Amino acid sequence: MTLIPSNSFIDFQQIVCSSLPNECSTKQHIIKGSRLQRILAPVESVEEDWRNTQRQMLKNKIYCSLYWYLLTKEQLRTNGFPRWTNRYKNCVSIELNYFDKQSGKKTYAECGDLERKCARCGKDYNLDRNGKVVKAACIYHPIPIKYIGPNVPKYNCCGEEIGAKGCTQACSHVSDTRLESTLREFKQTETPQSSLDPRTGNVYALDCESVYTVCGPEVARITLVDIFGETVLDCTFRPRNTIVDYNTRFSGLTRERVLGSRLRLSDAHAFLSHFINSETILIGHGLDNDLKALGVVHNKIVDTSILYPHWKGSPYKYGLKLLTKHILNRDIQQGSMGHDSREDAIATMELVLHKLGFGC
Ligand SMILES: [Zn+2]
Ligand SMILES: [Zn+2]
Repeated sequence: MTLIPSNSFIDFQQIVCSSLPNECSTKQHIIKGSRLQRILAPVESVEEDWRNTQRQMLKNKIYCSLYWYLLTKEQLRTNGFPRWTNRYKNCVSIELNYFDKQSGKKTYAECGDLERKCARCGKDYNLDRNGKVVKAACIYHPIPIKYIGPNVPKYNCCGEEIGAKGCTQACSHVSDTRLESTLREFKQTETPQSSLDPRTGNVYALDCESVYTVCGPEVARITLVDIFGETVLDCTFRPRNTIVDYNTRFSGLTRERVLGSRLRLSDAHAFLSHFINSETILIGHGLDNDLKALGVVHNKIVDTSILYPHWKGSPYKYGLKLLTKHILNRDIQQGSMGHDSREDAIATMELVLHKLGFGC
């Protein structure tokens, strides 16, 4: 099936894409038999101009329908989305979620605070005086606990019982703690340039993948998927700080892929601003994590982890894999090479369209 690119896609190719290196692609992608494909089926059978008009009307309809599901300011705050602390927009605050509060997790640390807890093995360790990671054996279980039968929890990675020595070893610890100074580096998505700004009516699913650096986790891949399942942006870039671990098992990123890129976070921001302004609706699953990693403040959010509430209620949330299986009857995150942000973004878009009643 051939999909017709949207106008913004064509503009992007003309303006930017011809000079893009290989690591940033705008390949079209759609999963065969998916809901995204089925909602297009009636549109595919008509002439091109009419088809474009139909696609634009469908996009407008979905954009308007999603207004009912946008997170409120209060929901954005309590679900950990970055919020400005003042009208000058030079610093954000991020509310800790219930589980981070309970565990005493340090999500942001002051510059002189060198104490960290390893996100893999749970050990306390210290950074060197420059705030960088030092080498040390990190022995851990890479897959979280799996419960087999009543009261017999085991690790999913190796099947050993809880408390058994780690089955995987790395040469340094890693931390989920970021520097507090990064809270002053966030950027607000641009306000529309005019009433005709084409970015205003856009709806995209966004997903990121991160690696561990000497200064905590940093984003290294970003993917944007539109309502038709087309990947309008899929970009790998180098983090600012030295990488400690590519987190391949979860991120799907490798040394070759990340270090082979000439792009930086600033490039990713520039590409993003081509598609997104402050009125664009962004869809994601736990999108607060993606926006924190990207250093972006945005208010028009539909989050599938809130759209499909957990039966126990807040603060519990379903994982994307489980939701996709239960709601769409489709398996994702099956590969051994980690998550694929494109696959995850398509799944979140489908979950939202399902909620709206499209393609059911
Ligand atoms: Zn460790
Ligand atoms: Zn294990």
